[in-house]
Amino acid sequence: MKQYYQLSGEETIMQVNGSLEPLTEEQVLEHQEKYGPNELVEGKKKTTLQIFLEQYKDFLVIILIIAAIASGFMGDIESAAVILIVITMNAILGTVQTIKAEQSLASLKKLSGPEAKVLRNGSVVQIPSSEVTVGDIVMLDAGDYIPADGRLTECASLKVDESALTGESLGVEKTTDIIKEDEVPLGDRLNMVYSGSFVTYGRGAFVVTGIGMETEVGKIASLLKTTSEKRTPLQINLDQFGQKLSILILIFCAILFGISIFRGDNIGDAFLFAVALAVAAIPEALSSIVTIVLSFGTQKMAKEHAIMRKLQAVEGLGSVSIICSDKTGTLTQNKMTVEDYYVDDKCIKAADVDVNDPSQSRLLISSMLCNDSKNTDGVEIGDPTETALINLGSKLGLDPEAVRAKYPRESENPFDSDRKLMSTKHTMEGVPTMVIKGAVDVLLDRMTQIQIGDTVRPLTDDDRRNIENQNQSFSREGLRVLAFGYKVVSDEEELTLEDEYDLTFIGLIAMMDPPRDESRAAVAECKRAGIRPIMITGDHKVTAAAIAKRIGILENESEACEGAEIDKMSDEELKDFVEGISVYARVSPEHKIRIVRAWQDKGNIVSMTGDGVNDAPALKQADIGVAMGITGSEVSKDAAAMVLTDDNFATIVKAVENGRNIYRNIKASIQFLLSGNFGAILAVLYASIMALPVPFAPVHLLFINLLTDSLPAIALGLEPGSKDVMNEKPRPMNESILTKDFLIKIGTEGLSIAVTTMIAFMIGYQGGNELLGSTMAFATLCSARLFHGFNCKSDRPVVFTRKVVDNKYLIGAFVLGIVLITCVVMIPGLHNVFKVQTLTLTQLFTVYGLAAVNIPIIQILKGIRLLLKRRK
Ligand code: ATP
Repeated sequence: MKQYYQLSGEETIMQVNGSLEPLTEEQVLEHQEKYGPNELVEGKKKTTLQIFLEQYKDFLVIILIIAAIASGFMGDIESAAVILIVITMNAILGTVQTIKAEQSLASLKKLSGPEAKVLRNGSVVQIPSSEVTVGDIVMLDAGDYIPADGRLTECASLKVDESALTGESLGVEKTTDIIKEDEVPLGDRLNMVYSGSFVTYGRGAFVVTGIGMETEVGKIASLLKTTSEKRTPLQINLDQFGQKLSILILIFCAILFGISIFRGDNIGDAFLFAVALAVAAIPEALSSIVTIVLSFGTQKMAKEHAIMRKLQAVEGLGSVSIICSDKTGTLTQNKMTVEDYYVDDKCIKAADVDVNDPSQSRLLISSMLCNDSKNTDGVEIGDPTETALINLGSKLGLDPEAVRAKYPRESENPFDSDRKLMSTKHTMEGVPTMVIKGAVDVLLDRMTQIQIGDTVRPLTDDDRRNIENQNQSFSREGLRVLAFGYKVVSDEEELTLEDEYDLTFIGLIAMMDPPRDESRAAVAECKRAGIRPIMITGDHKVTAAAIAKRIGILENESEACEGAEIDKMSDEELKDFVEGISVYARVSPEHKIRIVRAWQDKGNIVSMTGDGVNDAPALKQADIGVAMGITGSEVSKDAAAMVLTDDNFATIVKAVENGRNIYRNIKASIQFLLSGNFGAILAVLYASIMALPVPFAPVHLLFINLLTDSLPAIALGLEPGSKDVMNEKPRPMNESILTKDFLIKIGTEGLSIAVTTMIAFMIGYQGGNELLGSTMAFATLCSARLFHGFNCKSDRPVVFTRKVVDNKYLIGAFVLGIVLITCVVMIPGLHNVFKVQTLTLTQLFTVYGLAAVNIPIIQILKGIRLLLKRRK
């Protein structure tokens, strides 16, 4: 049997589909059923049971289980049972959280999954790549990932990067020609495309011959290990801190154990207590809290149009100090309308263009031919610059499709943003003609003649000056200007880039792309938040500066420059230069990388937007690469850390705000957990120094740490965002979360909790009643930590903050915790199990009162800290 590359495109379609028609809806379903989804089979997913069992993997939990079993054998069945139940409930909580976090990450992944353009029911539709099936005709443009293996049926200067398969990083030029040889290596099958590679240039179409594991990349998929999610810098930081802290706590527990033995306590009891204290004090949940808060935070961000592709980037968002943004579509609406024509040395308003005037009609027809966009019943497909051109034609009564049918396209040099040109070949009135459009400065340099009316004459310096002046004056109004020209070319040959010289000028078209309504406010917010917004665009300098001025990015014309100026600078010079520049015009993707590096070298965390295939390296280089969800190429989305589903600059700023809030919330959770744990340790330490009885039974500590503590910690992670975070400067990236200030806060707050707990103990212990003392200490510690949740909501005293009650999760966690602890101390049936005794109402309210007193104390401490800070 012949290989697909030995068949023509049509023969291949016949072979896989049985006819030359594109797949019908039924056939698509049939094929999807037969061949399955177009996916590489990933490693097995963990079952719920596996996740549940993993919760027991923790070293201390294992010791605790051993200790519980040991105490069971020694006759203390109740303690053993309670410990096991508490551990199990904690494991259930952990399992639910892990599954929820995984689900939210999976749905996020789905949102940012790759897409493909296929021909279905006669029109091109965008579908998730996983739905592409054998027999589909897939359309390819520069920047598209190739979703499956297939035989090319159409090719226009198509170049493909197949490095993922062949290791060859240079783009391979493709053709549709049949290959006759038998055993052709993959890299030489020029009429085939393979899943996993991507289009670097040109256009094309192919019929799918293999999907999923049947593709070439699928065959080697077993070699490609699925990459596991990397830990975030914050998680690494916390893990390291956790390890050090654990060692300290273990030493402390060991000493305590020694003292108990020395005092003649029961070894089993002393051991169980030491282990329980270790479990209670070691903050092993820190890094999983980070995962949970990050995954819920990214869900919220996705709803607000920012999809985070890398969890690590969420933390980085809070440190962003430079946002480099494209202009077109990101800061502007990308809704272009033609405003002016410039032909025969005069300006004409778009509405006044006369289709019967030969010069004006030539410009109009050229703008429809050298154009890839479509407008089908009001649905615009293609680049807005180009749709604006055909829309004007339609408005003036010329049907673009009729014009294109009259002068069919025979060959083309597709647009690319490095060259800033596009050209197409048509036979016009019997003459093979290349029509060309592009950036005025680029095209004007290649013009040698001008057509005025029916006369073609050499382009004089005066003509050149007039055109340049007109371009300037359009640009100053913020208009995007395209120049048009033509050239008679050889009849037979395909167009090449060499044809794009020695051209005849026919006119200029100027169009308006108004700034987005929200851009100005977003730029102002950036500045307030200590972030420098910078415009980077392929457009003309004067146009870019005019728009930048309108939205507040630029104040002075001297803050604008062109990419070419950068070319002359060394990296060192550029580092000094970037400080004074807010607008970069006529920029190519290489300039973007240099600009990012220069700012990074100056110690900044840089966010950079990009949409084209060539933007991928700059997006990777940036700390937060941002791709456009609507207009961006698949390659740029793959390289980015964040994808904007609305392509909007304001969304980046909103994402920074969310990133800062998420970081603040994580910090609040950590503060809550560490200060509470510290309170418990201090209480035990005090009792031990003062030779008092141990204030807690092991089960008390486990109850608090494994049950009533987890929910407020997560609830704090879900605090509603606050705009206040945008009044602060960006957080230095290398700043550890555990700053001296933060540790002092944890220390003083822990001390307050410990003092109130020990007062409760002493009240209960007054008459030598150890059980009453420890009941009151346990209930106070538990309630104080619940109250303390409200302290952790904000860094500032509550009187200065928004409502204390705006987090319903925290209130829920608080109420549940208080009900649980009250039940434990007030229901006699639970007393043996929890090693407590019934409290009188007075005692109960003393407990509540002592616990609640932590709120005013800690609020005052916050006030003092704030005052001291202001004084500094
Ligand atoms: P951004 O602000 O996102 O960088 P841009 O649209 O200004 O966007 P490019 O798309 O790279 O940047 O365009 C650069 C220049 O190329 C434009 O200023 C314009 O002169 C020219 N140009 C843009 N689109 C086309 C097109 N479809 N055909 C020919 N020339 C074009």
